[in-house]
Amino acid sequence: MSTTTTPTGIHHLTAIASDPQVNVDFYSGLLGLRPVKKTVNFDDPSAYHLYYGDETGTPGSIVTFFYWPGHESRGRVGSGQSTAIVFSASPASLDYWQQRLQTHGVAATRRNRFGEDAVAFADPDGIPVEIVAVTDDARTGWQAHADIPAAHALRGMHTAELTVRAAAPTETLLTATMGYRLVRRDGNRARFTSATSDRSGNYIDVIADASAPAGLGGAGTVHHIAWSVPDDASELAMQNRLHAAGYNVSDVRDRNYFNSIYYRERGGILFEIATATPGFAVDEPVATLGSALKLPAQFERARTQIEQLLPPLQPARRFA
Ligand code: ZN
Repeated sequence: MSTTTTPTGIHHLTAIASDPQVNVDFYSGLLGLRPVKKTVNFDDPSAYHLYYGDETGTPGSIVTFFYWPGHESRGRVGSGQSTAIVFSASPASLDYWQQRLQTHGVAATRRNRFGEDAVAFADPDGIPVEIVAVTDDARTGWQAHADIPAAHALRGMHTAELTVRAAAPTETLLTATMGYRLVRRDGNRARFTSATSDRSGNYIDVIADASAPAGLGGAGTVHHIAWSVPDDASELAMQNRLHAAGYNVSDVRDRNYFNSIYYRERGGILFEIATATPGFAVDEPVATLGSALKLPAQFERARTQIEQLLPPLQPARRFA
């Protein structure tokens, strides 16, 4: 029986991209994340759902994508969304990353925020991405990329940005119901950390921007953010806390690799709470994670048709 009833940190971010091959080439080939699961959108099995992360897909390292092709499927980054994907790396790696990105045609600039240096760029669909220099992050990321020295590997997510028109309701949800506490505030940006520890991967930045355009869901935007809890008992405890705080929370959904509940915070952002168990090795060995198409039981009977609908997908391009 777990005593943890509030999230320990970020579990994953799920974003929407337009083209799975371009997405694999960028996030795995160029940025060096490990593909940890190749499956389909459980609500639309004709489209891929790809997961990237560290060696085993540890919560806090996981970024996942749905694919919405076509110009009419494009979204707009704005309020009511998580507005950036923010990774942690060694301070000694920022020059390496800026150079690697620019060598391969990705404009990358430097910025400093909360005293942290970062390389800022955009992914092929326009989602803002940052690599932040973090001195005390013990995570190692994926060490086995063919072309990226292990010392420069992205270690996992550092924080996630939530952009809302008015911050108070979002901040109250984080602090009063989800166990987060404020660690610093600078202008319209406030950083919170989870109850368990004040470290990279457990942060959340709330940005209050009344003039931000309203976010529009679609390719080039983050779809939702998932928070990690250790087990089902913690998830059910959070479901009760959220109900008590007046949130409309979904039933528990079986996502094969975790169990999830969903709710929308007052600023409009879709939140998910996902269990750290059973994890990505539940249906394939760690050594070959992400290489074969994995389908949940309800789709296995239709595997042949699903495979015919999915576009061909090559292993990530090499950017040596
Ligand atoms: Zn999710």
